[in-house]
Amino acid sequence: MILGCLVALFGFSSIAVADSTRLREVLPTGATVFAESLPGTKLVSLQIIGSARGAQDTKATHGYRHLLEHLMARGFKEDSDKKLEVEGLYLRATTFRDTMQFRVDCYPSQAPIVIAVFQDMLAGLRATPERILKESQIIREEIALISESRKQNREVWTQAYGDARLDPLGDPDLIATATPKSLADLQRTHFCGANLVVTVTGNVKVDEGILLAKRIAASAPTYPAAELNWMEFSTPKAARVSSGEMTTIGIPVGGFQEPKTVARAAAAFALAGLAQGNVSFMPTLKHGLVSVTMLQNEQTRAAFSNSPAAALEVGRLQLRRWMQKQISEPGRDGALRGSLLSFAPFYRPEGFLDGVQELKLAQFTEAWEEFRKLWAN
Ligand SMILES: [Zn+2]
Repeated sequence: MILGCLVALFGFSSIAVADSTRLREVLPTGATVFAESLPGTKLVSLQIIGSARGAQDTKATHGYRHLLEHLMARGFKEDSDKKLEVEGLYLRATTFRDTMQFRVDCYPSQAPIVIAVFQDMLAGLRATPERILKESQIIREEIALISESRKQNREVWTQAYGDARLDPLGDPDLIATATPKSLADLQRTHFCGANLVVTVTGNVKVDEGILLAKRIAASAPTYPAAELNWMEFSTPKAARVSSGEMTTIGIPVGGFQEPKTVARAAAAFALAGLAQGNVSFMPTLKHGLVSVTMLQNEQTRAAFSNSPAAALEVGRLQLRRWMQKQISEPGRDGALRGSLLSFAPFYRPEGFLDGVQELKLAQFTEAWEEFRKLWAN
């Protein structure tokens, strides 16, 4: 009986799991397709999310994933830009530590064009030595332009995780050494089987959205069949980076639904709300980081003088607002749900919202104190 319930809940078979506005299905290839109808939206967001499970950057390949993202975005026929531009559409491509995401928001009538572009992207990779060199140069320029807070964030991750959770931007010198074969292999791993999630969210009926998602998923590689795993590494530590007036403090967290993660995220959001800082938090399966960037000024000192009870109210409100914003707009909704589904087909942001609601003052106080001590260091 219990086993039956688990199978029904977690549904690893191709059984579709639906409520009235959402539908998710695990295909025989292992890929997950997801559709959600969001009332009051004009646009529909189509997204491909590739999990980095088995495809994470190492010190020897640091940035190959970023390069792959650039090459894939151009398309196998190298005409993605042109096809989208004439429609007034725009492809957003982003490489995160755990996923690579491609997204186009369009009117429903434009969906077939986006599907054709995505199918072309997944069908193969045209990586020549010349293109690799050219894109590595573009990435070098991109990295030179990152903001001070982005730099601090990169440094905080390095302090916390060493070489285990490398910054997805990569190392331009290493990127230039990638070979066409290494990139083709990387693409197959990153977008094959259970590593692939396709989401269609917004102005669409769920059953139609699922069909669109399936058309995209059908062009993905179905191999290698080898089991893919996340990298294992030792315990991370809290981190702090300062330059000038600006300081970033970060605390490692586990899975996004763990009470400790929710408490630390709430503390960071409370601080950001009270001190006008910026939070960086991406829900992960494990090995995440919550960081907050703030200025060394009176407002930040005043923020820390709040009682934990007062800060908890602010943190809860800010965190709930942030999450609601993510799940009510087609593009953000597809991106967040897609990345959670890439960890496991049953993860939903609602689980996190429940955790925010149930957060206890004692748990929050512990997290608040951790940030306070880190700041005072
Ligand atoms: Zn880039």
